[in-house]
Amino acid sequence: MKALRSGSKELIKEINRFKVLNIIRDQQPVSRAEIAKQCALGVSTLSYIIEDLKSQTLIYEVGEANSTGGRKAKLLRFNKNHGYIISVKIEEEQILIALTNMEGELLTKKYASFSQKVTPKEVTSMIQRKVHQIFEDENKDMQLLLGIGILSSGLVNRHNGTIIRSSMLGWENVPITKMVKEKFPDVEIFVDNNINGYTLAELEKGEGKHHNNFLVVSIGAGLGLSVVIDRKIYYGSVGGAGEFGHTTLVMDGYPCHCGQTGCLEMYASEFYFKNKEQEIKASNSTLTDLHFSEVAKAAKNGDQIALDLLKEMGMHLGYGLRNLINTFNPDKVIIVGEGVKHSHLFQQEVFDIANDNFFEKVNINTELVFSRLKDDAWFTGGALLAINQIFQEPIYEPVKSEV
Ligand SMILES: [Zn+2]
Repeated sequence: MKALRSGSKELIKEINRFKVLNIIRDQQPVSRAEIAKQCALGVSTLSYIIEDLKSQTLIYEVGEANSTGGRKAKLLRFNKNHGYIISVKIEEEQILIALTNMEGELLTKKYASFSQKVTPKEVTSMIQRKVHQIFEDENKDMQLLLGIGILSSGLVNRHNGTIIRSSMLGWENVPITKMVKEKFPDVEIFVDNNINGYTLAELEKGEGKHHNNFLVVSIGAGLGLSVVIDRKIYYGSVGGAGEFGHTTLVMDGYPCHCGQTGCLEMYASEFYFKNKEQEIKASNSTLTDLHFSEVAKAAKNGDQIALDLLKEMGMHLGYGLRNLINTFNPDKVIIVGEGVKHSHLFQQEVFDIANDNFFEKVNINTELVFSRLKDDAWFTGGALLAINQIFQEPIYEPVKSEV
């Protein structure tokens, strides 16, 4: 459990400062009167905080609010160029690195690919090189780098900054934030699972913007889930909540890379095609490459086996989503990931089965949608991972790395 800091004058001052700053970040442009109403702070305390934030170039004044007469009120805005954030996504064969401003808006991006399994040490050095290269190329001051948000596949403990296990990368117990911190001692480093990162982008800029309780399901090479309750991601005990791909669909079914058998991921992701390889070979299908994009391509070219495989995969996913809807009763389920590009090939199966759920029987509709965000949402999510924590009200004691 996270320890609350002891109450003190200093803490109250800090909390008020962050409260004011976060109202400006969330509701900008906003007037002093509106902030005062929401914070219940005295005029002089609020003025002091605003002057302090202005002197640190965190906020600035703009334009004027509509007024019914008399002196017009100036509005306050957050200075999104106050500093920079680096967003990193570690994938199986490459890392994606982006530079963003303090609102997670993409400024530039770079890729670094590797042909074989890399060690955490090599990836850390790659991040260091690319970050320096970006700041050099963009002619930016490294002193203004305030945070690095890292997204990785697998089981991630965000509290102690460890990737507990990523079977895709072949990594176990990697203290990634500590390793990157050694390269950037003055910068705050954060890590999370990639689907949770994407969910931060959905929360602030996508389908989740106006919803309190929703689920984000990613389909593609694997199957991921992020659970949002009261606009916060639910993490579970060590950050592992959402291993939906490893819930059981078939008793004694296909063996899974996680060590169990019959996992949903084996039936409702790219793994399904690989599991059907022998049958595909014995058929008259033109399919040789069983990656999602290739199966979708063959289906578009009229390959019946590919068309059937995608429909079957869609049915399995539909059952998975039905179980999720019945478990969480969400406002909405947002489907994201590589599979979205090819969703027309299986969405009918997904919708027919998922919509035939417990709540539908009493006329409660659960919205099922495909994400509208572009691939850059991964960068936004990684940046927001850092930004949200940098501006979090400082009520908790800092967590020390356990490794
Ligand atoms: Zn599994």
